[in-house]
Amino acid sequence: MKTHAAVLWGRGEDWRIEEIDLDPPKSHEVLVKWAAAGLCHSDEHLRASDMGSAPPAEDAPPRPALFPMVGGHEGGGVVLEVGPDVDSVQPGDHVAASFFPICGRCKMCITGHSNLCDLGAATFAPGQISDGTARYHLGGQDLNVMAKLGTFAEHSVAHEASLVPVDPDVPLGVVALVSCGVTTGWGSAVYRAEVKPGDTVVVVGVGGVGINAVQGAKMVGARNIVAVDPVEFKQKAALDFGATHTAASMEEALPIVTELTRGQMADAVILVPSVMYGHLMSDALTLTGKGGTCVVTGVAPQQQTESSVNLFELAMYQKEIKGVVFGDANPRFDIPNLLALYKNGQLKLDELITRTYRLDQINQGYQDMLDGVNLRGVIAFD
Ligand SMILES: [Zn+2]
Ligand SMILES: [Zn+2]
Repeated sequence: MKTHAAVLWGRGEDWRIEEIDLDPPKSHEVLVKWAAAGLCHSDEHLRASDMGSAPPAEDAPPRPALFPMVGGHEGGGVVLEVGPDVDSVQPGDHVAASFFPICGRCKMCITGHSNLCDLGAATFAPGQISDGTARYHLGGQDLNVMAKLGTFAEHSVAHEASLVPVDPDVPLGVVALVSCGVTTGWGSAVYRAEVKPGDTVVVVGVGGVGINAVQGAKMVGARNIVAVDPVEFKQKAALDFGATHTAASMEEALPIVTELTRGQMADAVILVPSVMYGHLMSDALTLTGKGGTCVVTGVAPQQQTESSVNLFELAMYQKEIKGVVFGDANPRFDIPNLLALYKNGQLKLDELITRTYRLDQINQGYQDMLDGVNLRGVIAFD
């Protein structure tokens, strides 16, 4: 079939809307019609070349091409058709995209960390999960697909391991957000930082992901939640989502946290800047108290290998530094669970969607994200 997709032809280029050829679903594959796709920073990381592997050295052996690639990994849609052997969904089901496919059998899956499923290793590699061949083509050329999903398209053919069935009563725009950004932020606070009632928490960067770390911290009973962001509109929004204090920078947060905790400092610091850099660790660990946890959620350029950490204080104050991906959440449990909390009025999701765009407005949507005018932009399909 023919469908329209936003395709990235190379690093630093604009998204281009193309009419592409999509093959029917093969074994364990599902044809999905997307209703909404979230403009997550990860696709921009890929475009800006700080994710999805560094540009190859000139003498490096050839490797499978990352580009051209259909973008998008946050999505909410409806199953149109299923291929042979599919047993988890049927036509008409509403589904969320799962950035990481879930095999349900590997060590990480069966020990409750399916965000680290072995299938995730090939997230940026071309070809389908099922047999490594391409379902997406343009003018005879195979197209790669972001995270095996490609939600910046009217239709996708995805493996059932990448799709999570959801409650059909929940709006699909909201489903799209929970498929990545919301769960990543919420889980960073609840699961990875293990925020407890009475804790003091600092969230650095309160965009579409960080603001959900604020929500998560509030939900589990944090006493003080300091939202740090240079953008005033995001600081104000953070107060609506449960923050108790705001600051424009970690430097500005220092006296606030010192006073709130009488110098004990924060139980948890969660780093969700738009791009993570090593030098941010120094201020973050100054804000982290004895026995406290510093969680790194933000994505750093892949070449970033140095960071400023006072190793004496790390040991003597018994601080922890933890990386996290997808909030250490399990997509098949946490996506439906967060949507149920939303339905119950316990999680704010509608308020996250600042603007919606048509597919052909995607470059504007990403520019708005970089300009800091959106909590989250969403592409709405017809
Ligand atoms: Zn994402
Ligand atoms: Zn697995």
